[in-house]
Amino acid sequence: QQEPMTQSLYSPPGLEFSSGSGSGVPKIVQRTIAKEVCHLQAVGRGRFGEVWRGEWRHEDVAVKVFYSTEEASWARESSIYEQCLMRHENVLAFLASDICGTGGWTQMVLITEYHPLGSLHDFLSQQPVLTLGNTIRLLFSAAKGLAFLHTEICGSPGKPALAHRDIKSRNILVKTGGVCCIADLGLAVRYSSINGMIDPSPPLVQGTKRYFAPEILDSSLDTRCFESLTQADMYAFALVVWETLLRCRLPDSDPVPYRLPFSEHAPNDPSVELMQSLVCEQALRPTVCQHWLTSSYSSAVVEMMTECWQHRASARLTSLRVKKCLRDLDESFRRSDVQGAEADGNC
Ligand code: ADP
Ligand code: MG
Ligand code: MG
Repeated sequence: QQEPMTQSLYSPPGLEFSSGSGSGVPKIVQRTIAKEVCHLQAVGRGRFGEVWRGEWRHEDVAVKVFYSTEEASWARESSIYEQCLMRHENVLAFLASDICGTGGWTQMVLITEYHPLGSLHDFLSQQPVLTLGNTIRLLFSAAKGLAFLHTEICGSPGKPALAHRDIKSRNILVKTGGVCCIADLGLAVRYSSINGMIDPSPPLVQGTKRYFAPEILDSSLDTRCFESLTQADMYAFALVVWETLLRCRLPDSDPVPYRLPFSEHAPNDPSVELMQSLVCEQALRPTVCQHWLTSSYSSAVVEMMTECWQHRASARLTSLRVKKCLRDLDESFRRSDVQGAEADGNC
């Protein structure tokens, strides 16, 4: 379902979409948008920049202003959005990218749809609790976004396969309607099966250490193998699943307060050495709460999660498998919910 804002941006009257960009927004329109946006309120901050809620022609937009040292991140995120087919309900929708300024001053911005509920991390920390239905829906939608990124689409316009390389609850946003979209493609790498190239060739240690897969921590990951990069995304995704399960209310038990994975062992910005000791040497994983095993739905999510955080990367589920598993759970949960409501009505 398209929101009116996207409609007006993607089809401004009288303009032809001849740029061939995956976003469908010609560069000239992007520049105009970037010039016309006014920044209203800071809403987030990451390692690469600050994110503002802005306004463009009376509609809210998000404006990510990159730190001047982070041109590479801006260039990578912009080029992925501009060159690849990236329109998907569960991937943050791109509107424009621009670099402007003269002399010693430049400003690099990326303009996207604005989501007032913020990141999944903020949502989980601030929302009262999630129902089982909400939990499955959030996770299923995030898995759809990740599976879309990981999948190569041949054709014109098509998209290369992308590994995200920084999956975490702060890089997933919650849309109104209780579904997620994957954001922050600043470290993403592309892979095309046509030439077998990974672009750019990524360094091993990059991303957020708390979410590093065991093979990144012990340096055994082969960065020349694209599948290895998506397997590391799946490990990080499993940690996000755990964070989300914490806030799920199940019958006869209260949800647990939100916390980051490994927070009891790892302080803010833990070192690689500490994470390696926890995740590889002690084989620690976040604790599975016993009450998650009391419902067949949450038990199935737990089983999927533990398969995704296995030490052996090749044994982990792929994003397509996770998407299918969560789709089945979502469908079956909705059916049982309807039956339950009907049965209640019949009483
Ligand atoms: P960085 O690359 O610096 O980590 P992100 O793109 O991850 O930047 O954005 C940082 C934070 O800003 C996110 O964790 C989120 O809280 C907020 N944010 C980013 N994009 C949006 C958006 N489109 N709508 C609402 N909040 C956003
Ligand atoms: Mg980020
Ligand atoms: Mg980033």
